[in-house]
Amino acid sequence: NTFADIDLGDALNKNIQRCKYVKPTPVQRHAIPISLAGRDLMACAQTGSGKTAAFCFPIISGIMTGQFAQRAPRMPRMACPLALILSPTRELSCQIHEEARKFSYQTGVKVVVAYGGAPINQQLRELERGVDILVATPGRLVDLLERARVSLQMIRYLALDEADRMLDMGFEPQIRKIVQQMDMPPPGMRQTMLFSATFPKEIQRLASDFLANYIFLAV
Ligand code: AMP
Repeated sequence: NTFADIDLGDALNKNIQRCKYVKPTPVQRHAIPISLAGRDLMACAQTGSGKTAAFCFPIISGIMTGQFAQRAPRMPRMACPLALILSPTRELSCQIHEEARKFSYQTGVKVVVAYGGAPINQQLRELERGVDILVATPGRLVDLLERARVSLQMIRYLALDEADRMLDMGFEPQIRKIVQQMDMPPPGMRQTMLFSATFPKEIQRLASDFLANYIFLAV
């Protein structure tokens, strides 16, 4: 019933202590082991439930222990993140970025954020310095893909945060375009986590289109 009971590795555990997290929240207690076991996940989680850590911890842990050496070669000026976290707004993306940076402190895992409504040049420069985890809003990411400045061919982890809000904001075409780019070979490499506060038909359809053999979690 503590984070020490979950096998997240020493570096991540140290950062969890630095954040003064002692006990996992319910969504963390259930979602983290499911993701560490490699299963896709659809989780019902509200703001304040601790969902950010629930998807960040398995991603950081997986990148630190994963064997990704045989993946596509890196291209100049083209960022090739291993993990993508999609969120509906600039504010939420920045919050996730800030938390993910604390969680990945001194792990060598690099987190970059890209959102719309702000000049793209600074974000491009950040991306050029290397990125393992990209936190992005759907519209800005489509822009980066169209400019060929981001490749999603190495994505091993995809997290969709506040999926219901993203659909409410009309991002479904962008999200589908983004996920399509990950469906190139090698197949079966991607692990997907979908977080949503509500489960209307449209979210269930996203889940059946994007997730494979997933576990449904409602806490
Ligand atoms: P979230 O739902 O991810 O936005 O998290 C809500 C707030 O709870 C954030 O300020 C987190 O830093 C904090 N938090 C998340 N998990 C824990 C935990 N296990 N123990 C204490 N605080 C936490």
